[in-house]
Amino acid sequence: MKIAIVGGSIAGLAAALTLRCVGHDVTIFERTAAAMRGHGGGVAVLRQMMHFLEQHGHAARKTLAVPIEWRRWLASDGSLIEEGREIVPFSSWDAVYRSLSEMLPSDVVRYGEAVTNVRNLQGSVEIEIDGRETVTADLLIAADGAGSGIRAMLFPDYRSSYAGYLAWRGVVEEARLSAHLVAELDNSITLLRERDALFMTFPIPALDGAIKPGERRFNWLWYRNEPDAAALSRYLTDREGHRHHASVSPGELSAEATAYLHDCAREKLPPVFQQLMTHTQAPFVQAIFDALSPSFAVGRVALVGDAACTVRPHTASGTSKAAADAIALAQALSDLNPAVDIEAALATWATARRAELGPLIARGKQLAQSFGLGAITQ
Ligand SMILES: Cc1cc2nc3c(=O)[nH]c(=O)nc-3n(C[C@H](O)[C@H](O)[C@H](O)COP(=O)(O)OP(=O)(O)OC[C@H]3O[C@@H](n4cnc5c(N)ncnc54)[C@H](O)[C@@H]3O)c2cc1C
Repeated sequence: MKIAIVGGSIAGLAAALTLRCVGHDVTIFERTAAAMRGHGGGVAVLRQMMHFLEQHGHAARKTLAVPIEWRRWLASDGSLIEEGREIVPFSSWDAVYRSLSEMLPSDVVRYGEAVTNVRNLQGSVEIEIDGRETVTADLLIAADGAGSGIRAMLFPDYRSSYAGYLAWRGVVEEARLSAHLVAELDNSITLLRERDALFMTFPIPALDGAIKPGERRFNWLWYRNEPDAAALSRYLTDREGHRHHASVSPGELSAEATAYLHDCAREKLPPVFQQLMTHTQAPFVQAIFDALSPSFAVGRVALVGDAACTVRPHTASGTSKAAADAIALAQALSDLNPAVDIEAALATWATARRAELGPLIARGKQLAQSFGLGAITQ
């Protein structure tokens, strides 16, 4: 089949890989220009994504993650209160993105092309690119992320819901940090839990993928409750005055939001984390949303990744979930008897996949609650 994918991030690339493996002709439309890619933060990469990359021929375990051994909890004065072994590999969005991209022929992704409309027709899908070009495909896969425009077109009454907290984030080159600070943070994920916030930092690969000491970066995330709608709106308004729905990218935070972040850091964080923040050139912020599409397929349009379901980040499962979506979708679309109704095969896949994600969604909310993050549910 001729399959179009909207979104060339983790879920879109993973789906392209698996769908090509079962013989389909795949094109990805990604609105961002190629040169603009590669500015994501750190991600924990669960075994499923590692396994997925290795199945597709990438030596992920050796190259993707910075090896660490410890999970360390600090008190607010910076003293160590608890230490245990850590087994999750920590990587970066860029490294996962690059690993997936390198396994696809370069002409599979059409960069700088936004899908502006989609129409389910009898036996095909019509896709409008940038309001000027129309292409037709047998299927369309929406991998356009947590704020999915395709989901909004399919389900205009559905809204994702703000979970009540923000992730303030940043990435610092190791070379900018003192040897003493690196020694304190090295070889571990280091965390601090407050009543309504959770700070964590861990080493991640350099932008070029280097994982050698001295060349790596340190990623930090500070989850902080923000129940005040007016404050949320101010922090999501960038330096040009543009109000974003869920995130403000590196380099675009307003002066007010940056000052607020630094004030909070001075007031709440131990010196070791304050120093990390001081050396961060371009902090950014993401509001945490819950989203579960009313269905994962409508006619010949299927949703995968965060477009289908956005789980809380504490499960560290976003990339692995995207890989699992891609595998399940390719299985559903392989060896189809031409007499079998493709829409029926998609609908069966969608119902099964949506049901499978229930426990993961619940786990994400439980973890958030255990950290005191977001609205407390009874
Ligand atoms: C604070 C935070 C921490 C996280 N930590 C982790 C972690 O540790 N481990 C983990 O596995 N996951 C983590 N995640 C989740 C993870 O980042 C995502 O689940 C994962 O990147 C999959 O995203 P995606 O590909 O579905 O969507 P996205 O990465 O959002 O990509 C959507 C793509 O679609 C493109 N697009 C959108 N609309 C259009 C259009 N109309 N036309 C063309 N292109 C379009 C966008 O430009 C983008 O490239 C975290 C998320 C957050 C918010």
